[in-house]
Amino acid sequence: MSDAHDLLLDMIAALPDPAFVLTESGRYAAILGGHDRQYYHDGSHLVDFALQDVLTREKADWFLQEIRLTLEQNCLRIVEYSLAGRDVDGLPIDTGPTGDIWFEGRIQPLPNQINGERAVVWVASNITERHNLQGQLQILSETDELTGRYNRRKLLAELAQHFSEFQRYQTPLALMIFDIDYFKRINDQHGHLFGDHVLHELAQQCQTQLRSADILGRFGGEEFAVVLPSTQLNSALQLAERLRHHCQQLTFTGPAGTAQITISIGVGTASGIDTTFTDLLRRADDALYSAKHAGRNCVQHQSDDTGSKPTVLL
Ligand code: GH3
Ligand code: MG
Ligand code: MG
Repeated sequence: MSDAHDLLLDMIAALPDPAFVLTESGRYAAILGGHDRQYYHDGSHLVDFALQDVLTREKADWFLQEIRLTLEQNCLRIVEYSLAGRDVDGLPIDTGPTGDIWFEGRIQPLPNQINGERAVVWVASNITERHNLQGQLQILSETDELTGRYNRRKLLAELAQHFSEFQRYQTPLALMIFDIDYFKRINDQHGHLFGDHVLHELAQQCQTQLRSADILGRFGGEEFAVVLPSTQLNSALQLAERLRHHCQQLTFTGPAGTAQITISIGVGTASGIDTTFTDLLRRADDALYSAKHAGRNCVQHQSDDTGSKPTVLL
């Protein structure tokens, strides 16, 4: 055999990521490369089996659909998916990576048929580390460091998403913004660190008062907001009142003694006249402003801009 031929065979055998030749009907026609057991299981026994023989129906259907799409579009396609060793029948799972593995699949149509069938090359790269890192970065970009709750960016994204659902399906939507009363005094009397502790504890306490679908986050400083999906004004006001009451019962303990707080809450509901979620935001913010002016430690709501004034509820 020629040197060039040997080199080609060596190179194919040493391909770092496994390359599967899969026919349109789902048969594994060949499996090459991917021999590092730190990253990949040994799938060599799969040759001549079909996807449907070794995978769950759902997974096999997904692979078949991706193969079909690649053949139809006749170009390289890139997909991401997870597959654990236990998902594939007969795979020797005592060697190879454990748990869910994330793959980037690069799927390329083959120019010639195999046994009368069209086929693709499917290169599966283990990207688990990158995938997990991306997940962590995503969480960090959405989380407020001090309270561990959503940050302003994530809250606004949630509000925007629920607002578009309101516009499309008229699902009711309410927003609550609350702010600690005279928080400066807490910092002045007990120090900034204690103030931080209060913010953290308050966020955890508020979470206990909310329903699982409600979305709490820190809006900035000592101001928080709660997106209330599928919530009418009356329910939002009841929830706000419960929250206000709960907060005034709390006692925060620090090295310089204890402190209590109250909060002022503004509530707004999405209205048919709103053009963007910022209209709802402004309404809740105006109501909060009114609550401060009404003496603090109270809930106010602002109805849509048809001329009505904010209403003091407490
Ligand atoms: P009001 O009832 O009008 O809301 O009075 P206030 O004193 O709470 O309001 P103001 O906006 O005047 O002050 C907010 C204070 O919140 C000032 C700022 O030092 C404090 N603050 C904002 N962010 C943080 C934080 O992350 N940690 C601590 N400890 N304090 C913060
Ligand atoms: Mg304040
Ligand atoms: Mg404030």
